[in-house]
Amino acid sequence: MSAPTTWVPGGAGSGYDVDHLPYGVFGLRAEGPSSRRRIGVRIGDHVLDLAAAARHEPFAHRVSGETLNPFMAAGRSTWDEVRRWLQAALVDHDAAAQHVSEHLHRIEDVALHLPFEVADYVDFYASVDHASNVGRLFRPDAEPLLPNWRHLPVGYHGRAGTVVVSGTDVVRPVGQRKGPDDAEPAFGPSARLDIEAEVGFVVGTPSRLGDTVPTSAFADHVFGVVLLNDWSARDIQAWEYVPLGPFLGKSFATSVAAWVTPLAALEPVRVPLPGQDPPPLPYLQVQEPAGYDLALEVEVDGEVVTRPPYRTTYWGPAQMLAHLTGNGASLRTGDLFASGTVSGPERDQVGSFLELSWGGREPWTVGGEERTFLRDGDEVVIRATAGTLTLGEVRGRILPPVPPRPRFEGFGSES
Ligand code: MN
Repeated sequence: MSAPTTWVPGGAGSGYDVDHLPYGVFGLRAEGPSSRRRIGVRIGDHVLDLAAAARHEPFAHRVSGETLNPFMAAGRSTWDEVRRWLQAALVDHDAAAQHVSEHLHRIEDVALHLPFEVADYVDFYASVDHASNVGRLFRPDAEPLLPNWRHLPVGYHGRAGTVVVSGTDVVRPVGQRKGPDDAEPAFGPSARLDIEAEVGFVVGTPSRLGDTVPTSAFADHVFGVVLLNDWSARDIQAWEYVPLGPFLGKSFATSVAAWVTPLAALEPVRVPLPGQDPPPLPYLQVQEPAGYDLALEVEVDGEVVTRPPYRTTYWGPAQMLAHLTGNGASLRTGDLFASGTVSGPERDQVGSFLELSWGGREPWTVGGEERTFLRDGDEVVIRATAGTLTLGEVRGRILPPVPPRPRFEGFGSES
């Protein structure tokens, strides 16, 4: 028996069939920027207006907001209830189809917004290949991994207020930087603007201050997954990060996908973690399979330049969640925590240009042109598949640091 598929045109067998059903927030392009925001569910090349389609259902008040937060706060039993209703309605060719189809919009007719209000944002450093590469680049004469790395998932608190939705332009940041050969620091545009291809986890169910969240409660708290680009200005970062960690080299923008894939949709791609030595302390131990087999790719100006495999990531998301609450710090609905740069063991599997260019020393090419870090005008798209699912992409274009000023012919010294 084959799995049920949807009656929505273009949905059956696509990366957005009823086994996926990611959530987003949209308005109608025809109504302009002030179009009312509403929760949408992607099915094939269409978006279902969830609150309108489910207005007579008992959960209707949970999905009628302008962000996903109230729905995410309602907890796992509501997430499961809505998903079951959607799967039934989008497969039923008769009664449901007639009442649901009028609330479908073509994807090109909607404008997508940031799907959830971000509460706190934490970024980890969970890939052993990425951490080892960065260690080799920055501390060539020392052990690549610092002594704590295999004992806890290293992380830092990022800036929640500058998380932006896919499609948002990123202005090249300016800041203070000092190269190894510079006598003094200088202030100006970053010359080493980079990406970090990451997987983000979105918290739905909060926790109480003082409580810890065990690894076994991961699926009760985490609503879903988004692709994430942790834009990074390496020159600003390298000068500022000692001793308190990343700051302005990261906080100018972090892009997330417009579609949140429900955690339940990723059940079929759960895989064991690649193995941990030494065994983690009890609060970080997990019931396997605790990893996810997501295949990422990074595209620059239409060309795939690297394919990072998430399944090789050392620390799993349940471990990251247990660690970040291990001191009793509470979770809020909308908290976002990310994997850190996803890099595999091979050179064409790295998740940053720092690694792809080996510290800027070995250029890579796109369209026959050499690159080390990003140029103004470059557009980066991170995509991923999870088995038959296509995760929502995260896209961004680099704009020059200073907005172009009008030029007046014959005015000034150039004439
Ligand atoms: Mn990062």
